[in-house]
Amino acid sequence: MPVCLHKISSDYSNLCFKCKQERGTYMHCFWSCDKIQFYWKGIHHELEKILKIRMVFSPAMFLLNLVLANLAIANVLS
Ligand SMILES: [Zn+2]
Repeated sequence: MPVCLHKISSDYSNLCFKCKQERGTYMHCFWSCDKIQFYWKGIHHELEKILKIRMVFSPAMFLLNLVLANLAIANVLS
C-alpha cells in the first residue's frame, strides 16, 4: 500500500497507484478508488445477471467474502 511504503521511505508517494489523487490506504486502493469501483461494479452487475438475484454492493462481501444475512441476497429477480 502506498501509505505503508511512504511510512518506510518518503521517496515513495502516499498517493494511490491508480488515480494518484487520494491517499493510498487499503480501503481506497481496493474499494473506493474510482478506477477500481468501475471493476467492482462490473463484477457486481455480472454476478446479479448470472445468479438472477439482487446483491448488496458491499466491500465486506466483495473484499472479505463475508456473506452475512443482512448483506447477502436481497431478493430474487423476476
Ligand atoms: Zn485511487
